[in-house]
Amino acid sequence: MAGVLVVSLTACGGNDGGTAAASVDGLPITHFESGLRPDAPPPDVQVRNVSDDQADQLAMATIADVETYWSKQLPGDFGVAFKPVSALLSYDSDGPDQQNGCGDLKGIENAFYCGADDSIAWDRGVLLPTMIKQFGPLSVVTVLAHEFGHAVQYRLGKQAGITRTTPTIVKEQQADCFAGGYYHWVVAGDSRYFAVSTAEGLDAALLSLFGVRDEAGTSATARGAHGTGFDRIFAFQLGFEQGPKACAGINEDNLKARVAERPFDPGDKNEGNIDIDDHAIELLKQSLDAAFAGAKASPPKIVDGSGRCQGGPSTPPASYCPGDNTVDIDLPALAALGQPVDLEAEQSGQPSEGRGDFAALSEVASRYALGIEKGVGASIDNANAGLRTACLVGAWAGAVNKLTNTELRLSAGDLDEAISDLLRPDSLIASDVNGQRVAAGFTRVEAMRTGYLQGSAPCSKNYA
Ligand SMILES: [Zn+2]
Repeated sequence: MAGVLVVSLTACGGNDGGTAAASVDGLPITHFESGLRPDAPPPDVQVRNVSDDQADQLAMATIADVETYWSKQLPGDFGVAFKPVSALLSYDSDGPDQQNGCGDLKGIENAFYCGADDSIAWDRGVLLPTMIKQFGPLSVVTVLAHEFGHAVQYRLGKQAGITRTTPTIVKEQQADCFAGGYYHWVVAGDSRYFAVSTAEGLDAALLSLFGVRDEAGTSATARGAHGTGFDRIFAFQLGFEQGPKACAGINEDNLKARVAERPFDPGDKNEGNIDIDDHAIELLKQSLDAAFAGAKASPPKIVDGSGRCQGGPSTPPASYCPGDNTVDIDLPALAALGQPVDLEAEQSGQPSEGRGDFAALSEVASRYALGIEKGVGASIDNANAGLRTACLVGAWAGAVNKLTNTELRLSAGDLDEAISDLLRPDSLIASDVNGQRVAAGFTRVEAMRTGYLQGSAPCSKNYA
């Protein structure tokens, strides 16, 4: 069959060092301790039932900060006068009863915007401390910037296209997007309260967004759906790169075209996870060969070995060996990597050893993609090669379900496994032949999702 992906790479990427795309939306990649600035002013906000806890201090600073941001953006982008929310409430879901316009908050481990009384409330007793423990202080900033996004939605009304019948997923995507717009402003150095680096800082913000994704198998049309991790990060990155106007433009129609969230196929007994064994690798190879047939490069062989190259670059558990155009894999190590994600471990702040079948397959696919890149004369040993590789893995993932004559299919949750892998500092998916990768998870994830949504054409163009 004809290949679905046309990889038309040019050979000119070798000498420019491949650094053009190695930024975060044009901002330099930075490393420093992210969080509340030591010289942050005391936040001028009134919060009912507030404490001295770290969670409350971060929450108050966030509210003060997002109010400054929106007091500029609302008039500037939409011609709407800024109005702070009417009330703020800190409560302990495990403590004495508290109420707001949306009811009694006992046992409600949440942070939310309540339209009935135009207020924002957060659980400083359980939710925020848990998130801080798991994802660090920026998780509080991410959550409350998102909640304030809902307040902005109310203020924009028609301009955000929100009506009584707007599905939850649209509102949630807009709120994630608004949070992304705010983060751009922070990362650019305009915030008086927070300093966030584009590498570890933004990674933490993305991971906290990712950490509260819907469970795999949820339908985007389900009541209360927030989106998969992939969907949530897409919306955040849209706001980060294009600003609040683009967020207000998110609607049911344009969501349909890209939202990844869908239920498990009926009859999928394994809920989407297959064992990574010889058979799985065979299916993967078929699928990759079919997807990249149009590239007119000789397809690399996948060899069950040590996961290393003899006398060449080694990136176990899978290595691309340019010498003989093979991908050498350590099958037992990949099988362990391909175990389902341990959500309990994840929630207690431990990284899960298993990353899911699709994470393991994507790591192998990335080494295969390097072989195709080399075959068409592109560079394989610089930052752009790593990003181009992630983009091609995304393009393959986007094409998998359209391939005929191959059995491998993407199931619900698969993309999130790849995204979660990409956000880890040791992921192979966006790394070059030597295992080097761009330090910003934001940029790595963006590369893969570009390929997933747009196919292989932008991979060679954006990461030349
Ligand atoms: Zn929300």
